[in-house]
Amino acid sequence: MAKYDWLIVGAGFTGAVLAERIASQLGQKVLVVDRRDHIAGNAYDYRGPLGILVHKYGPHIFHTNSKMVWNYLSRFTQWMPYFHKVVGSVDGQFVPIPFNINSIEMTFPQGMAQRLCEELVETYGFGKKIPIMKLRETDAPNMRYIADYVYDKVFKNYTFKQWNLRPEDLDPMVTARVPFFISRDDRYFQDTYQAMPREGYTRLFERMLDHENIHVSLETEYKHAVESNPDARVVFTGPIDEFFDYQFGALPYRSLRFEMRQEPDQWAQPVGTVNYPNEFDFTRITELKHLTRDRADGTLLIEEYPEAYVAGKNEPYYPVPTPDTSKMLKPYQELAGSLSGKVWFAGRLGDYAYYNMDQACGRALALFEKQIVPAIR
Ligand SMILES: Cc1cc2nc3c(=O)[nH]c(=O)nc-3n(C[C@H](O)[C@H](O)[C@H](O)COP(=O)(O)OP(=O)(O)OC[C@H]3O[C@@H](n4cnc5c(N)ncnc54)[C@H](O)[C@@H]3O)c2cc1C
Repeated sequence: MAKYDWLIVGAGFTGAVLAERIASQLGQKVLVVDRRDHIAGNAYDYRGPLGILVHKYGPHIFHTNSKMVWNYLSRFTQWMPYFHKVVGSVDGQFVPIPFNINSIEMTFPQGMAQRLCEELVETYGFGKKIPIMKLRETDAPNMRYIADYVYDKVFKNYTFKQWNLRPEDLDPMVTARVPFFISRDDRYFQDTYQAMPREGYTRLFERMLDHENIHVSLETEYKHAVESNPDARVVFTGPIDEFFDYQFGALPYRSLRFEMRQEPDQWAQPVGTVNYPNEFDFTRITELKHLTRDRADGTLLIEEYPEAYVAGKNEPYYPVPTPDTSKMLKPYQELAGSLSGKVWFAGRLGDYAYYNMDQACGRALALFEKQIVPAIR
């Protein structure tokens, strides 16, 4: 039986980047296992109905300000520039999200919109992004009015559907992800690099993992793999509480159910994603063709229904960032620290952190340089 120096649990961005680095830079043998029947973790995509590339675990748009991450991933894919746009269904019309000057002008009578915009620019400055919870701290009547309007119409019900929590109960960084934007820039992200992998994410991962020192074993549980590789060093990118048999209690996660719909029209909606903060049980609908640029006679739409995470029944997509969960996480992190030099934890589930893809890659690249390389020298 092949002897592996490393057992990497999870073939998502975190696991794949680390496997590639260890195999190519350190010349060591790596076994990557994943309990799913495919690589690429939550970024997995496949050709679905009408030949359209389907993002199995919800729409994934790549965006980063990190030149290092961009350059690293560019070794494994070519890119198609893509600027994601989102509109929200608010009182019967679609307005740009993040809510911005254009959204204000579409929502309010001309004179009122002008006054609100002028005061916003004077108070905060053109081009500034203000987290909604921060905007709500103001005492200025006009600013308070617009803050409450956006909070009520865009954030409150969406957040409750998504997290089953009120915005004020979440770590402020969650609502700060979609700030109020004093600008006419309708793009959802403003990062320097925004693109989709030309042949999809799964192909990117195939190239990343295509190395003679890497072996991938799918539909394989960590517990099973570690029995046959007891001496291998481990990188664990699954849920940290599961690794330690939930000994300090189960950390909460939020899950989603995706429903895919095919329609005969060329296009069903004006932009990639439409948010429905106040109507329906789903939070948003994404039309994949906007993201993938596939040409097809018809279109595919994905509706996202948030739901409670139940182990064994659905997927733990989102850690739930609240003050309580960071307290619950602490003893797990201490236990993880006691295994240092033998087991490393990383990734959205291993760190229990709300990472985007670029952050997961950046974290893996830093872990490699700062901890893994020194540990084996
Ligand atoms: C609906 C949704 C939309 C998103 N959209 C975006 C977006 O537009 N842009 C963006 O940048 N990011 C987006 N993200 C975030 C992105 O998915 C994550 O940043 C990324 O997947 C993190 O990679 P990871 O390797 O840490 O984790 P994952 O991709 O979750 O990979 C972990 C892997 O470990 C495996 N695993 C876990 N436990 C075990 C075990 N015990 N044994 C074996 N295998 C195990 C799992 O099966 C999984 O495949 C989105 C996430 C979701 C849920």
